[in-house]
Amino acid sequence: MSKRAISTPSRTKEILEQYGLRAKKNFGQNFLVDPVIVERCAKESHCEGAVIEIGPGIGGLTEQLAKYSKHVTAYEIDENLIPVLEDVLSECDNVEILLQDFMTCDLSAKVSELKEEYGTVSVCANLPYYITTPVLFRIFECPDIAYITVMVQKEVGDRFAAKPSDPEYSALSAEGQYLFDVKKLFTVPGRSFNPSPAVDSVIIQFTRKDSSISQKELTEFFDLVRACFKQRRKTIYNNLREYLQDAEKAKDVLEKAGIDPGRRAQQLGVDELRKIYEELI
Ligand code: SAM
Repeated sequence: MSKRAISTPSRTKEILEQYGLRAKKNFGQNFLVDPVIVERCAKESHCEGAVIEIGPGIGGLTEQLAKYSKHVTAYEIDENLIPVLEDVLSECDNVEILLQDFMTCDLSAKVSELKEEYGTVSVCANLPYYITTPVLFRIFECPDIAYITVMVQKEVGDRFAAKPSDPEYSALSAEGQYLFDVKKLFTVPGRSFNPSPAVDSVIIQFTRKDSSISQKELTEFFDLVRACFKQRRKTIYNNLREYLQDAEKAKDVLEKAGIDPGRRAQQLGVDELRKIYEELI
């Protein structure tokens, strides 16, 4: 077996040629061809227990995760990549490759099993751009996943990391920051991928703040946040009134939460949105 890392540009090229593969757009395939970035991403992902990867591709990141983690579970949707992965990762005996759509897998069951066996469970992935947000929300809903380290398009990373009053600040930012401390680790230029996308990417890391938030609270809080941001130009009072279908209640809730009804959701931090939620329950 070659000693070069899979994500070395020449090795990736060889693997693609050897197996007659071409990156499939419909699966969001952009292979990372920058061994320094790939190793750094794995190293910083807190993957020492078990780690879950979504979309191993031809195994560039998987190979590095296998070095730093006790166990890697990788979900890949493209059946043509399975024999390739089994071949190129044949020396990594701590890697489990599953041919499965991550969006329909039983994630909670898998996470419980991994936590029981390896103590901690984290996620590290170069996410397929066409389903970045739904994938992240699936992971958000698993309280036992403490760290999520993912490569996403720069624009998506900016939205998750945005602070109140930033132009990118949205319901997505507030929801993510309710559950996690969100940090941008570093930017990855388009040339670090094969094929190169037109836009830059960024590696962001989510560190869970509190794993005791129930599914019910999560759903209710997210519903409220989405309603508050529904019409971004409207005041918090107007959006809340519409959501509650009750003008008096909206006024009362904002007063008790100490929020000026003339402000917009765009200007409210997560703690302030949380106060509104607490007045409603
Ligand atoms: N990890 C590899 C790398 O960094 O070079 C490949 C990353 S590529 C951006 C995204 C990968 O996700 C592809 O291998 C693609 O086939 C896979 N994928 C796309 N949709 C998926 C899904 N719903 N479930 C599991 N894997 C998926």
